[in-house]
Amino acid sequence: MEEKYDVIVAGAGIAGSLAAVAAAKGGAKVVLLDRNEYKEAGKKTNWGWVCGDAVAKAHTDFITQEIGLTFGDPELNLKVDGVYALSPDLEHKFAFEGEGYILDRPKLAKKLVNYSTRSGAEYVTKFEVEGPIIEDNKVVGIFGRDEKHQQVKIKAKIVIDALGVASMLRRKLPPNEYVGRDVSTDDIESTGRYIIRFRLAADDIRYYDPKNALIHLNQQLAPGGYGWVFPKRNGRMNVGLGVEKKSLDIRNEKLGKKDTLHMLIDEYIKWNPLIKDIEIDNEDGNGKGYWSVTVRRQQDSLVYPGYMGAGDSMAMPNPISAGGIGPAKVAGIIAGQVAGEAVEANDAGLDFLWKYNVRFNENYGSKTAGLEVFRIYLQSLNNDLINYGMAHFISEEEAVEISYGRIPELTLASTFNKILSGISNVNAFKNLVYSVNEMKKLNKHYKQYPQSPDGFNAWKAVVDREMKEIKERFKPNPI
Ligand SMILES: Cc1cc2nc3c(=O)[nH]c(=O)nc-3n(C[C@H](O)[C@H](O)[C@H](O)COP(=O)(O)OP(=O)(O)OC[C@H]3O[C@@H](n4cnc5c(N)ncnc54)[C@H](O)[C@@H]3O)c2cc1C
Repeated sequence: MEEKYDVIVAGAGIAGSLAAVAAAKGGAKVVLLDRNEYKEAGKKTNWGWVCGDAVAKAHTDFITQEIGLTFGDPELNLKVDGVYALSPDLEHKFAFEGEGYILDRPKLAKKLVNYSTRSGAEYVTKFEVEGPIIEDNKVVGIFGRDEKHQQVKIKAKIVIDALGVASMLRRKLPPNEYVGRDVSTDDIESTGRYIIRFRLAADDIRYYDPKNALIHLNQQLAPGGYGWVFPKRNGRMNVGLGVEKKSLDIRNEKLGKKDTLHMLIDEYIKWNPLIKDIEIDNEDGNGKGYWSVTVRRQQDSLVYPGYMGAGDSMAMPNPISAGGIGPAKVAGIIAGQVAGEAVEANDAGLDFLWKYNVRFNENYGSKTAGLEVFRIYLQSLNNDLINYGMAHFISEEEAVEISYGRIPELTLASTFNKILSGISNVNAFKNLVYSVNEMKKLNKHYKQYPQSPDGFNAWKAVVDREMKEIKERFKPNPI
């Protein structure tokens, strides 16, 4: 079969569109494949572009800096000053992420796809990717079905997998030591959200803040996850919730309930005393949807011979916030750039593609294993401990540092001087100190990410060992 393209990018979401832009700008002949029709570019599932739509300004600036694309109306729906996480009793709140935007996802997706074709990529719609073509332990193309449901094979030097969390490419790679094919259900949040019009019954920025995105930590309302209320323009909001399955099961058992994700979202909206007279805003068919998001570190390697992965296909969302738009942007651009370089060098081998691992790690990935540790620790706390911890364990500045994946070494140590009451609170504090030390260890380990595939196995063994220890120490314990 003839190789018509240098690079196949599978999936025209955020990661895929940007990978196509960067690879095409790098001189590669690129085809971007997606199952959606043109007017539904980047739609994740039949449920729509399911997302909280919040992104930090820093990530949008990264795109402008790297590929010169600027953003404004309509894809940036509302500017927000930041994101606040509130304690279950609503007495304490910590800011993180800094200023950012609530996006109009369908509009953003269309803009990115249009920019990819303007950059020289060919965009093929209504194409269902079914798996990779493997020859001699190397990915050499993909197979799938075109818009007439005909079986089609396409070959290329490199395949970039940007198919999202349920990727058919990652899952069908041959067994290998680099890219993990499966993700544990413990590391997945089941999530859902509505975009609604509503009447604001009163002013209370603990429940709704027109200038900030709010996250409600609450192990009863959102076991193992959190609820969110993100403002949008013109009396609309994006309201949703994520849960971790084990935590939900334990919470239901403790309460003698059989609540599902769908029920919990409705309950969360009812719990909020400010949201009244809601109506689903179904513009672009994007009013109500459910999907999964991973909350672990990204795949230990993002490359395999002839293959690179970017965005949700590689488990890139932030393990604490589940924010995946930022890393999908960063990864998409770097993957596309490296693919362009590989085509020019006529080398799609593991050694050449490895620089993508290194660059992603430098630009984003080195903090995520530490954040995964913190997420696992958080899931082991009940509401009382979260309330107490947010009041006594760490300051707002320390929480901000942790959310950025930095370790607030000195100041955290100073809280040892605080007098903590109650044995479970003291234990939870000791566990926090343990977690922060683990974060420190893993951050240091990620700074030594192998510069080539040599040494990867030994490096990965350390990560696996640390994560196993953490998961054994901290079990979900909601309510
Ligand atoms: C409920 C929810 C709320 C979230 N909230 C936020 C938030 O507020 N902020 C944030 O930063 N992140 C959030 N995320 C995560 C964020 O939405 C994702 O990280 C982001 O969309 C990842 O982009 P992507 O390009 O990797 O994948 P996707 O957006 O999933 O794009 C994949 C593309 O590939 C296509 N595709 C998939 N399979 C095939 C196939 N077999 N053949 C052809 N095409 C295919 C899809 O149709 C889609 O166009 C949230 C996620 C969920 C589920």
